[in-house]
Amino acid sequence: MKVNLLGVNIDALDLEETVRQVAEYVRSGLPHHVITINPEFLYNAQADRKLSDLAGRADLVTPDGVGIVWACRVAGSPVPERVTGIDLMTRLVKQAAVEGWSIFLLGAAPGVAEEAAARFSLDYPGLRVAGVHHGYFNDNEEAKVAGKVRETHPDLLFVALGAPKQEWWIDRNLRETGAAVAVGVGGSFDVVAGKVRRAPRWVRRLHLEWLFRLIKEPSRWRRQAVLPLFAWLVVKEYMFRRRAR
Ligand code: UDP
Repeated sequence: MKVNLLGVNIDALDLEETVRQVAEYVRSGLPHHVITINPEFLYNAQADRKLSDLAGRADLVTPDGVGIVWACRVAGSPVPERVTGIDLMTRLVKQAAVEGWSIFLLGAAPGVAEEAAARFSLDYPGLRVAGVHHGYFNDNEEAKVAGKVRETHPDLLFVALGAPKQEWWIDRNLRETGAAVAVGVGGSFDVVAGKVRRAPRWVRRLHLEWLFRLIKEPSRWRRQAVLPLFAWLVVKEYMFRRRAR
């Protein structure tokens, strides 16, 4: 089931249901785009029609983070749980090792995708890594990179260029890559490779991962400044309007 939040359809699936849906996509062999949507993306999509259309073209849109889960509840269309890029990628990689799906890691600084792939291969013996490529290439190299992915015939393609750059890349290149499923996963390769530490579990349980990231990377404040604006928009749209009706 999909729920509409501020004009964007989000899939009301938990992590395991999301994995099952992705498994169907892989079996179909046809190209599918999965977006893990965060408040910043959704907020910016309000003023950017191209961005909301991009989200509308995706096959699956998961609620990435507590902000989206909260907003869906306020909107009266709850989703079961957050399905973040890093959690979805890790779970899918585990499934890939079981099912024999091959994966390609595209993005992050040179060397990081290799390290993330090595980590995954240790954690999930038997994993088939089709290939890796860093994320610092020019626009005019885009087709060449997509071609490199295609040569390796991956089932799953994880793209870590940051949002929404990765979603635009997938939108333009997915068919060319030949992958059945492409997922934008932001800074996840850095976390898997051990370059960036994820918030401890107890911080995540308190729904404070965003605060942890802000403290660790203060340069994010400009991006996270969108969070109160997003919250205000949700309250205005769903609490006040509902009362006014
Ligand atoms: N990145 C990249 N190419 C670029 C810009 C960014 O590969 O041209 C990578 C960057 O190295 C990092 C990730 O994209 O690994 C972005 O991480 P961030 O945490 O900013 O993304 P978010 O999860 O917030 O979307």
